Amino acid sequence: MYDETVELAKRRGFFWPSFSIYGGFAGLYDYGPLGVLLKDNIIRTWKESYLCDDAIFLDTPNVTPEPVFKASGHIARFSDIAAECEKCKTKSKLESVLSFNHISDIPVNLEDAKRIVSENKLKCPVCGNIINNVYDFNLMFKVSGDYYLRPETAQGIFVNFKLLNNYNRGKFPMIVAQQGKGFRNEISPRQSLIRLREFNQCEVEAFFDPENLKFKELYEYKKIKIKPNTGGEFYITVKEAFEKGLISSQAFAYFVLKTQIILENMGIKNELLRFRQHDPDERAHYAADSWDAEALIDDEWFEIVGIANRTDFDLKNHQASSGEPMKVKAEDHEFIPYVIEPSYGIDRIILSLLAQSMEKRDNKNVLKIPYKIAPYHFAVFPLMKKENLKEKAEYIYNELKKLDKYIIYDDAGTIGKRYARHDEIGTPFCITIDYQTLEDDTVTLRSRDTTEQERIGINKILEQPFIDSHIYKN
Ligand code: AMP
Repeated sequence: MYDETVELAKRRGFFWPSFSIYGGFAGLYDYGPLGVLLKDNIIRTWKESYLCDDAIFLDTPNVTPEPVFKASGHIARFSDIAAECEKCKTKSKLESVLSFNHISDIPVNLEDAKRIVSENKLKCPVCGNIINNVYDFNLMFKVSGDYYLRPETAQGIFVNFKLLNNYNRGKFPMIVAQQGKGFRNEISPRQSLIRLREFNQCEVEAFFDPENLKFKELYEYKKIKIKPNTGGEFYITVKEAFEKGLISSQAFAYFVLKTQIILENMGIKNELLRFRQHDPDERAHYAADSWDAEALIDDEWFEIVGIANRTDFDLKNHQASSGEPMKVKAEDHEFIPYVIEPSYGIDRIILSLLAQSMEKRDNKNVLKIPYKIAPYHFAVFPLMKKENLKEKAEYIYNELKKLDKYIIYDDAGTIGKRYARHDEIGTPFCITIDYQTLEDDTVTLRSRDTTEQERIGINKILEQPFIDSHIYKN
């Protein structure tokens, strides 16, 4: 489904490679007219869900001065090991060269990488030449002077911890969320929205008293596949996984549960989702424990959300570098808060959602995304471009728009073609105005998922309860 999704996305206007008239540039993608609406709906789902947890929101600059990333460890350690072919000049992540050469060794550092490379005579995946040149490649983009584009939105939250804590009147846990762009100079950008140089993140930094890593009730929810780093892959509820000690704290387990539910609301299929724990040597430099929510597309699992226990790593380092004290007082002790971070990659969620939701009906695509998420909720058609039908259709379209903005007017092609077009972009309902409409003020309401058609009065359609029951309560 991956290839078909990317083709559909371009043809219908969800997303496409940026700057294509100049040949296209790896790792840069545009969202088209439908993609922008879909992305907004995905972000809104995330935002509303965290509002339910009384999150507070922040918006900080993309351009970030060097001292921030010196303190956070990104300048020294936010890198991948690159392997460069001296003959064809192809630069790849060492990981992918190892997998191309069927080597399962994972280097723990650059020295180790050099050893593996010299012992195994690795072939370049492009020209077959033996690769000797491996080096650390920092993934941050440097802009002019001592400024970088942020590789994650998180640091903007950490540096504001004191102000946020004052705003929040010292309450813990404090849940802070930021949505924005992240930039990474990926060695080998690939697979459309999967590995981008500029991407959309929705990050949450949940600050806790380390002596009280608890948050809300951990209720029983659907079973999910988990893959702990102690081995095995099996179905279990998050609650059970915590109770069995597979997930280290109740607070961490809460954000795994919450992520499962948010992703489901966005339309990611529970049965095509798993949570995989990182091995210790796979974790980012700031993390004491990490689990990835991974979505299955075709036969490959992709990380779409990373959940990390960042401990007090970032606040401690900013305290040491800036001199700003980050300690807070509780009744009987002082602490630097621990941070649990669920970080949602919006682009990968969108790609997974589209790929997982595409179904075939009579050889045609039907995009079965949740109604609330769809770029348009209703398409309004006049049966033909005749003046009297057009007038009525425009009236219904304009009136419906007063109740719900996500309405599209479509009079191009046969009705069959229009149904197919809207099935393919995920519009849940089509409303057709025909000759009977002119006689009895009823229209045909056709469902994307069942293709069933019903006759319904215009007066019924033009009421908020109709919209609510069809779209928002679905
Ligand atoms: P990380 O901080 O690496 O755990 O990233 C958090 C989330 O951001 C990941 O789960 C991905 O969904 C997303 N992400 C990270 N890097 C990229 C990238 N280069 N392109 C697209 N999404 C990314």
